[in-house]
Order: sequence, then structure tokens, then C-alpha cells
Amino acid sequence: MKVDDALLEKLTTALGNAYVPYSDHPVASVMETPDGEQFVGCNVEVAHYKGVCAEGSAISAMVTSGHRTLARVFVMGPGEHLCTPCGDCRQRIREFATPTTEIHVIARDGEILKSYTLQTLLPDAFGPEQLPPR
Ligand SMILES: [Zn+2]
Repeated sequence: MKVDDALLEKLTTALGNAYVPYSDHPVASVMETPDGEQFVGCNVEVAHYKGVCAEGSAISAMVTSGHRTLARVFVMGPGEHLCTPCGDCRQRIREFATPTTEIHVIARDGEILKSYTLQTLLPDAFGPEQLPPR
């Protein structure tokens, strides 16, 4: 099963815009809210190696626009391998995910390689519930 052409275009464009002079491993991501709005991100590396992942970039764009809930997450890496979110990004997704949030890893041609829930990617995740009430 493939994603629709508009989403594929967003992912492909972001992948092409990724700034990855150190790893040469571009990644693109789209965060979709429950109302269907989509926010795009790519990874941005810097010389001291503390760059921003594509997922973090897209989540920042979503939050900047005032959204706080993820319905669907899409991640596309440079090849046909499974480019799953890194541990740090799994925690970032956790912050805005619900039990029904879908996380899809996409091939360059738009094929959905594998789909996850947060529970499968980050079981028993630490979250705001573990912090003292404010
Ligand atoms: Zn990451």
C-alpha cells in the first residue's frame, strides 16, 4: 500500500532538502494532526553533531502552529530500508501521541514498508503521567 501522491511529494521534497553533510543520511517526516493538517520536517545536521532529526523538525513545526496531537506520523529515509524513528524521536512522538496514533515508515516510492503504534515502538514509555502533578 502506498501513501497518496500529495503526501509522497511532501516527503520527497523534504528528503531532498535535508541538510546532511556529515552523515549523508537524509530523512523526511510528516506529522499529521487529527484534523488532517500536515507538518513537514527534514533532518538538519550541524558541525557539533547535535542536529535535529526529521521527526523533531516536523513536531516543532506542528507545535509552532498550535497543534498538540498526532494522528499519523510518516518517516522516509534515503533507501528502501526501514528508517524507524530513533529513540529520542520515539520519546518526542510519545509526547503528542495517543493510543491510536499510527507511525508509518515509507519507502522512496511511497510504499508503506511497516506501520507501528507507539506501544510497539516505545512500550511502557515514560510520559507526563510519571511526573508529579503541577
Ligand atoms: Zn530521531
